[in-house]
Amino acid sequence: MSEVRESSFRRTVGAWRIGRRAAVLYLFLALVPAARLERSLPIARLLAAPPPEHVAVPVDGVRADSLRDSWGFARSGGRRHEGIDIFAPRGTRVLAPVGGIVWRVGADPLGGRVVWLLGPGGQMHYFAHLDHPANPRGGDAVAAGDTLGYVGTTGNARGGPPHLHYGIYAGAAGAIDPYPLLVRRSSGR
Ligand SMILES: [Zn+2]
Repeated sequence: MSEVRESSFRRTVGAWRIGRRAAVLYLFLALVPAARLERSLPIARLLAAPPPEHVAVPVDGVRADSLRDSWGFARSGGRRHEGIDIFAPRGTRVLAPVGGIVWRVGADPLGGRVVWLLGPGGQMHYFAHLDHPANPRGGDAVAAGDTLGYVGTTGNARGGPPHLHYGIYAGAAGAIDPYPLLVRRSSGR
């Protein structure tokens, strides 16, 4: 009888120890993903949001009705122009056309200094040939109109007139023409 009671006691203590360990583990799991979730929630919200029917001109002071659609124009190496070139003096502010999360701030051979912005509907907005990027870093949330960088001639725009190359990539659909989205409604800037 006492053996039974002892083993039952041991089982209880053992279960309590396992339970406590499980509780600590559970608490740990509950806290760590919470921090991750906090970061991934705005992303999930952006992915779930409908893609915009209109985007603001992403260069300060440039009016939508002054834009020229350069989508599909032939480029070196048999490439097609996957975006729109928006000409402005060097150093003109490049503005977020939609609210979103800065995905990447970096450099590549063609685009030069670039910023990628994750926007509504999971679309990636691409800003290239920047003279230099602005303050926001990868992971930062930005509102429409926030400064992402400054117009320049980096990458393969070197030697030409300063301009922003602006591209929109819509997931599996690939690059889409930003022009109709820019002119759909006069943005007034
Ligand atoms: Zn371009």
